[in-house]
Order: sequence, then C-alpha cells, then structure tokens
Amino acid sequence: MPRLNENYLNLKESYLFSEIAHRTSAYIEKNPQKGRQIIRLGIGDVTRPLGRTVLDALHEGVDAMSSADTFKGYGPEQGYEATRNAIAAYYKRNGIHVEPDDIFISDGAKSDTGNITELFGPGNTILIPDPVYPVYVDTNIMCGNKITYLSGNAENNFLPMPDHNRHADIIYLCSPNNPTGACYSREQLQEWVDYALANQAVILFDSAYEAFISDPELPRSIFAIKGARKCAVEFCSLSKTAGFTGTRFGYTVVPKELTFPSSAGVAMSLNAMWNRRQCTKFNGTSYIVQKGAEVVFSEDGIRECQQNIQYYKTNAKVIADTLTELGIRFFGGVNSPYIWFECPNGMDSWTCFDYLLEQIQVVGTPGAGFGENGKNFFRLTAFGTYENTVTAMERFKHLFT
Ligand SMILES: *Cc1c(COP(=O)(O)O)cnc(C)c1O
Repeated sequence: MPRLNENYLNLKESYLFSEIAHRTSAYIEKNPQKGRQIIRLGIGDVTRPLGRTVLDALHEGVDAMSSADTFKGYGPEQGYEATRNAIAAYYKRNGIHVEPDDIFISDGAKSDTGNITELFGPGNTILIPDPVYPVYVDTNIMCGNKITYLSGNAENNFLPMPDHNRHADIIYLCSPNNPTGACYSREQLQEWVDYALANQAVILFDSAYEAFISDPELPRSIFAIKGARKCAVEFCSLSKTAGFTGTRFGYTVVPKELTFPSSAGVAMSLNAMWNRRQCTKFNGTSYIVQKGAEVVFSEDGIRECQQNIQYYKTNAKVIADTLTELGIRFFGGVNSPYIWFECPNGMDSWTCFDYLLEQIQVVGTPGAGFGENGKNFFRLTAFGTYENTVTAMERFKHLFT
C-alpha cells in the first residue's frame, strides 16, 4: 500500500469558481428571463485573439515541422537560444540587465511558481501575502511548509511591507497584484530587496502583469531594483501580456549571482539547481509556441499586444470611473486589469456576490476566495467586452445611487 502525501489533506477545497458557477446556474434556472442578461466580470482569462505577428510566426513554426531539413525534435530544456535572446533584449530595452542564460522558458508561470518549491528544504520561514493568487499557498501546503501570512489591507493599500524585526527566508510578491491590482513602487520594492539581502532571503517575484504597467515610474521587473540579482527570482508569462493563456508560454529568470550556502558551507547556485530540475523533469516548450513567443518581444509584437492591453485597460477605466463616481473605495484598475473594491454597506464578499447577481445580473469574484483579508472585498476584471463592461457599470450606477 502506498503511503500518500498527507499534506494534501491540509489543502482547503478550492470551491471558489465552482461555487460561483453553481450560484450563477441556480439563479438562471429560477430566473430564466433575467438570467439571459447576466454579464460576467469575473473572468480571470484573456478574451482578445492573438495578434497577426504572433499568428504568422506560429504558422512558420508549423511549416518548419513539415520538412525534414527544418523539422525540430526535442529542443533545449531551457528554451531556444533565439527566444531567450529575444527576452533578454526586451529586458535590456527597459534598461534591465538579464542574461540569456538566466532565463528558463516554460509552459507558463503557474507551473514554475509551483515547481520552485522543490529547490528549498524544510523549515524555512515563508512569507506569502494575503490576499493572493492561490498557487503560492497551495504549492507550499503540498510540500508541508508552514506559511506566515503578510497582511495586505486597505491601510497598506494592499501592498504589505517587510517587518524589519522579523526574519524571513522566502518571500512571495506579486506586482501588479492578482487579485488587488495594486502595484509596488520602486522605493517599496527597494525596501523589500534591502530586507531580503539583510536576511539572506530570496524573493520570488511574480510579474505576470508587468505589461499592464503604463506609469513609467513603476518598476516592471524586480531586476529594475538595485541588488535584486543577489536575492530574487522572477516569474513571467505571456498569458496576460500576449493572450497566451491557451497557447502556453512562460519564463523564469534565475540570476547566476543567486547562491546560498549549504549546511556544510558549500555554495549552491539556484540557477544551476533550477537548470538541473528542469533538465530532469521538463522537456521544453514546443518549438512552434517558442516561434510565436519570440516575436511578441519584437517591436511589431509589442505594439500588437499593447493594442489588446489598451482594450482591457479602457474597460478597467470604465469600472474605476464608475466606482469613483459612486464613492466606492477600490484598489487597482490603473496598471492592472483588476479592480478590487470594498463591498458597499458592510456586505461580506459572498453576500455582495448574491446581491449583484440578483439585483443587476453582474457576476464577479468574491474576495474571500483569495484569502482571509479578501472577505469584505470583491474583484472585477477588465477581460470582458467593452459593451458588456459599460452596461454592467450603468447597472452599478442605478443600484448604488
Ligand atoms: C495568470 C497568472 C499567471 C500566469 O500563469 P500562466 O501559467 O503563465 O498562464 C501567473 N501569476 C499570476 C498571479 C496570474 O494571475
């Protein structure tokens, strides 16, 4: 009989999206007429199609597979050189120093943020923000790690800062944040980097939404911060940047300066360890997808991606302007596709969910699904159509004025 990983018993049942679906379909069944007017602003997935430049490159990749002289079999586990160079050049254009062999290409940031736990031993003090993208919490629970929560709340604008009197070994940060849309400033990230260096800690930085940052003062990478190459790993993805949620492409940057001593005092390199982990357990991202991804970082590619991002950001502005007009407190919505608002009239987030569904047929995501600190907040996303977003916000105005 196999002994099972009983840490799985400690996972909370992830009922968030199934509960949303359940409550929504129950409502539609009871109110078929109104059910037809439902607008979904809870979508955590992109909806705009891939750009022309990317599509052409994907087609080229497919064509290469059709003839023996251009056919590709197994590729490098770390990703093709051309794709890694394109990413390093993209960083460079933003004034950031990342070397091609710091970069590991993958099928997405979710797998990498989960798999990274394998590089760390037991007994670490692990800081994870609350509220947050649930992957960091669940993957640490799966390996039996104890988590210390970093409280994000309205007082700190959902941007928790380090407690200099307490030690940590591993720190997860996500900026611009899912679900709150909050984005750390350069000074704030510098404080985190300085704290990590002082504690010999590592920062695991998720920048999946970097392309949504339009304020030039805000850092789009942890490596825009002095000292970060000695203390940070960055996870990035084309999912939200280029609409690759279904196409699948991510990359993780592990600088070669990132070394920590073993208990016997031997320097261990996280870059070498991640390389070993990937070479053993991962056989590379498809050549075709890497061809498509490579051009995302070109001038044409970036321009096309920005058109879609602007479309979503226009929606975000419609939502943000409405909430401002109604005097409802919210976070995000500017350098992010997410708007995180305080449930009006002291409602908790599930009561708010039912209220919006029943009164105005708008479906969003209750904040409780992202952690304890989300229980009086609600997430709306900008990934719907412009028309639906406008209609939903007109209904908001009627309901709350
Ligand atoms: C969407 C998202 C990702 C990207 O995940 P992929 O596996 O690359 O699709 C990573 N982190 C956060 C916080 C996200 O919301």
